[in-house]
Amino acid sequence: MTTKHVPPEWAFEFHGHKCPFMPLGYRMGKLALAYLGIEPEADHGFFIFPEIGEGHPQACMMDGLQAATSATYGKLLMAKTFYGKLAATFYHPQKGAVRYSLKPEFVDQFGQFEFFAYRKKGIEPSKIPASAADEVIQWVYDQPDDNIFKVEPKPDFKFTPVKGSFNKAKCSLCHEYVFERYLRIKEGQPVCIPCSGYEQKTLYTSIT
Ligand SMILES: [Zn+2]
Ligand SMILES: [Zn+2]
Repeated sequence: MTTKHVPPEWAFEFHGHKCPFMPLGYRMGKLALAYLGIEPEADHGFFIFPEIGEGHPQACMMDGLQAATSATYGKLLMAKTFYGKLAATFYHPQKGAVRYSLKPEFVDQFGQFEFFAYRKKGIEPSKIPASAADEVIQWVYDQPDDNIFKVEPKPDFKFTPVKGSFNKAKCSLCHEYVFERYLRIKEGQPVCIPCSGYEQKTLYTSIT
């Protein structure tokens, strides 16, 4: 089957540039929704675990996944595993889980397009001629689903989301509100993480 699942224009606007990875993520997301028999997630009941890492450019896929499924990073429905792989597992507590990955043969053919020659020279997607972006995007649309994606049911996949809580308290030092699971105690007083002096290792240390 070839289900193009062309992203709507707003998804390209949201993403900021034209590249082939956002549409690939969009299509992967739409196919996963269809596989699990669900609609885009209105609330907080569907999760995506992309295996994307950092320091490689294909992270654009994740914007497509979010646009297709409404399982957004902002709603805490998306969390990266940092495996550095072009795959994602989709999980719905009642419908189960499925993993979609890009087939290596597809990735090899894909990488030969002119668009990636520009990218390897360090040229940002918005600066690449539109014809080069359009060429590879159209090629992706024209590929059958089976050429692009490996699909694996994950019957044993389990995930327990953090239980939501509105409980909060004020940090005794900076007096800003902190949600309770992030409160620390310093000299017997509740404090926020920055005021605690505790060096939190963030995801961002390697790119700042
Ligand atoms: Zn992109
Ligand atoms: Zn504080």
